[in-house]
Amino acid sequence: MDFELTQDQREIQGLARDFARAEIDPNAAAWDRDHAFPRELFGQLAELGLMGTCVPEEYGGAGADFLSYVLVLEELSRADAGVGVTVAVHTSAATLPILAFGTDEQKSRFVPPLARGEQLGAFALTEAEAGSDAGALRTRADSDGDGWTIDGAKQWITNGRYAGTFLFFARTDPQTETARGISAFILDAEHVRVTRDEKKLGLNSSVTNDLVVEGAKVGRDRLLHEENRGFRVAMTTLDGGRIGIAAQALGIAQAAYDVARDYALQRRAFGHRIADFQAIQQKLADMSMEIDAARLLIYRAAWLKQQGRRHTEEGAKAKLFASEMARRQTGEAIQILGGYGYTKEFPVERYYRDAKITEIYEGTSEIQRLVIARSILGLTERSLAVR
Ligand SMILES: Cc1cc2nc3c(=O)[nH]c(=O)nc-3n(C[C@H](O)[C@H](O)[C@H](O)COP(=O)(O)OP(=O)(O)OC[C@H]3O[C@@H](n4cnc5c(N)ncnc54)[C@H](O)[C@@H]3O)c2cc1C
Repeated sequence: MDFELTQDQREIQGLARDFARAEIDPNAAAWDRDHAFPRELFGQLAELGLMGTCVPEEYGGAGADFLSYVLVLEELSRADAGVGVTVAVHTSAATLPILAFGTDEQKSRFVPPLARGEQLGAFALTEAEAGSDAGALRTRADSDGDGWTIDGAKQWITNGRYAGTFLFFARTDPQTETARGISAFILDAEHVRVTRDEKKLGLNSSVTNDLVVEGAKVGRDRLLHEENRGFRVAMTTLDGGRIGIAAQALGIAQAAYDVARDYALQRRAFGHRIADFQAIQQKLADMSMEIDAARLLIYRAAWLKQQGRRHTEEGAKAKLFASEMARRQTGEAIQILGGYGYTKEFPVERYYRDAKITEIYEGTSEIQRLVIARSILGLTERSLAVR
């Protein structure tokens, strides 16, 4: 075993960390307050190659490995989790599935503009009555011989308002109401109309949109993977995407720990630094240990994915642990800061709000437990009704 990052991984981690400290951290509180989506920032990230970190150079990416990409998400999320999710969805949920399932023509046409950050990507699976049970989606793609006509509505689509390319899921087999009749399509912004900007508890620097697609005509060149096999695209995408969300949770928890530790060494009560009290020491010890444990789970899952090995169970464990840990430990960070932790004078209340969503999207904690249970019990027949 080797726990050292490679030279390349350390460099890319340093690049992301320096950028996040200089360009994101000083603005994160204002973006949160104003619900501002920092569109220009993604151009700057693109110039550094960080909108396509793990995309091969021949497709316009930086050609780094998957763990490097996870390190980038961790650093970006440490400064601003909204920026983290924008990049995570753009990369793991839109760009990588086209690379994994696309034809040569689709890869050369759709991936470079995404990897170079000229366009943002989005992943449109969820509908009003199809969240965890994504196989119940109702958006239809009716075949007309040469292609399909798509009609339907999607809900809570990250990057929806700003995306140029959508990985979009619709039912191609009207005879089924299950996951078996779903296909994946690559749509452009022109095919999609944004109907709502969601207001959220946190992640205010990211956008979450409802969309409709009305009579959009697409040819066979827009079908990703085989007809009626789109659910496999979605599940494989989420297997990898979860590792990115776990890294987002880790970055948030690390940021909360950094603030809490510094504060505990400064703040005085009863004639002592609060760091001298065992109650505070034990909180910091637990935070540090749980952050380490999450990091190890995440890096292992990323390493397995990079090796092309199965990572469904390991990714689910990483996401489940990291997200619950981030929710718990951002709460503890507020506790260590006392009243100041509850105010906007310090960023820990933002971390607390941002951490919560990591237990919900790309599969809730309840669904991660189902995925893990299915794997450890050897239930190889994956229930298509549950993502
Ligand atoms: C900010 C934000 C961004 C998002 N971005 C995207 C995006 O970019 N693209 C996209 O497609 N979707 C996106 N989503 C949707 C997200 O993935 C779903 O919200 C999530 O999968 C859960 O679905 P749901 O909200 O419908 O909850 P439901 O499925 O209605 O679940 C409600 C509760 O029931 C539990 N539950 C459901 N089924 C089971 C079961 N079988 N066993 C035990 N418990 C169960 C759940 O765990 C949860 O606690 C986003 C959501 C948010 C809030």
